[in-house]
Amino acid sequence: MWISFTALTALITILFWLILSSSVRLNYTNENIEDIDRMMWQAMEQYTSDEFYEHLSVIASGGNCLIQILDEKTGEVLYSTVDSEEKEQDIFSYLIEKNIFELLDDNGGEYTYRVENASENSEWVVHAMVIANVEGSRQVMIFCKSLISVDHLLVMFGRRVIYAFIVILLIASFLSYMITRVITKPIHRLTEKAGKLAEGDYDVTFSDEGCYEVRKLSDTLGLAAKEFNETEQMRREFIANISHDMRTPLTVIKMYTEMIQTMSGDNPQKRAVHLERIQSEVDKMSTLITDFMDLAKLQSGVFQVEKKRFDLSVLIQDVVATFEMRHQQDGFIIEAKVAEHAFVCADQKLIYRVIENFMTNAEKFSVNEKKIELMLTSEKNIVRLEVKDYGPGIEKEHLAYIWDRYYKVDPYGNNKTGTGLGLNIASQILKIHDAKYGVESEVGQGSTFWFELEAVE
Ligand code: ADP
Repeated sequence: MWISFTALTALITILFWLILSSSVRLNYTNENIEDIDRMMWQAMEQYTSDEFYEHLSVIASGGNCLIQILDEKTGEVLYSTVDSEEKEQDIFSYLIEKNIFELLDDNGGEYTYRVENASENSEWVVHAMVIANVEGSRQVMIFCKSLISVDHLLVMFGRRVIYAFIVILLIASFLSYMITRVITKPIHRLTEKAGKLAEGDYDVTFSDEGCYEVRKLSDTLGLAAKEFNETEQMRREFIANISHDMRTPLTVIKMYTEMIQTMSGDNPQKRAVHLERIQSEVDKMSTLITDFMDLAKLQSGVFQVEKKRFDLSVLIQDVVATFEMRHQQDGFIIEAKVAEHAFVCADQKLIYRVIENFMTNAEKFSVNEKKIELMLTSEKNIVRLEVKDYGPGIEKEHLAYIWDRYYKVDPYGNNKTGTGLGLNIASQILKIHDAKYGVESEVGQGSTFWFELEAVE
């Protein structure tokens, strides 16, 4: 991290330096030559005025340059910004080319050149222009401007750039340290923990550290770990329950089979009783397996939900007919008040599963008063089904839990309970359908299980 930051800083500094030096090299002298040219033409605008010389001195001091006007024939200095004659002699004799008039001849009356001053790391830009011709003698105006030499300028800049580089490097180091602390290290730790999670360690915890995005990722992974943990626990619970619940009927079946073999084989009456018990245990196992399978499918989300429009009243009539067939002999009453039409959009098989569960429970727990009331209403876009029994009712302390997996209470203590999965499966199916559902129950009075689906046209 630090190395990449340093390399990046160095690269940016070098690029900056290259751009700066090439731009200074290209433009610095040219811009100054253009400046002198402009000043000279500014001066020329006042040439005919009486204040020409005053004007020249203003330009000279403003533009930081020396100006001299020379007469060609007499060599007389008509104007000079340097007041002492001695100094004037020194500077201008050094700056003005001996053959300046020839050079002006060759260059159309205007000539620019540079004079190096190595000892002072500077150079002079000299711009000469013929401004008048008085009786065959030319008068020439010369502007001289001292510039710091480009190389020297660049060396100066170079030093500053190195200082700047050191400062930027320090800042970059500090930043890289901070970024490493805030982003890289937490990500590193997060990756390590995610690796553990992938290996199956679902107890791994994700700490809340680093910047916002890292914390968010950490939260998501924490949530995933929690989900995995729950799923794993569910899987273990599931297997434990399967083995336990399957073993009981199998033991009973084994016992009755042995009894038939040893005792009742030759006694048709006893044998029939024992075979009936075997049959009942097989039925229990079959229900158990169906429940387990459905629950597993519902939990894994692979349950195929095929919603389509159907008339729930027709379905209820089917259920009632089946029920009545089953109870032709035993005097069990079913009273059904079913709305004429109650169209819903749902998975018919799954809704049937829910109704069947409510009905089976009502049937199972109606020991004293063998009566079930079934009511289907369709009002204000809501189709409501109620299954009422006059059984033992459910105690308040159990009411909240009866929809939980494996929760079963045996109100009569006569082994009426099943797997404890029926209501849980029903609730999951109803949730898939966004249906409201619930139970109203009073101990000794009975229970009413209900659900509501949205009515469709
Ligand atoms: P089970 O297979 O035990 O019936 P359910 O999930 O269908 O499992 O029901 C869970 C528990 O809810 C039952 O054990 C029972 O105690 C209670 N319960 C369900 N329906 C009724 C009812 N109609 N009357 C009284 N108790 C009921």
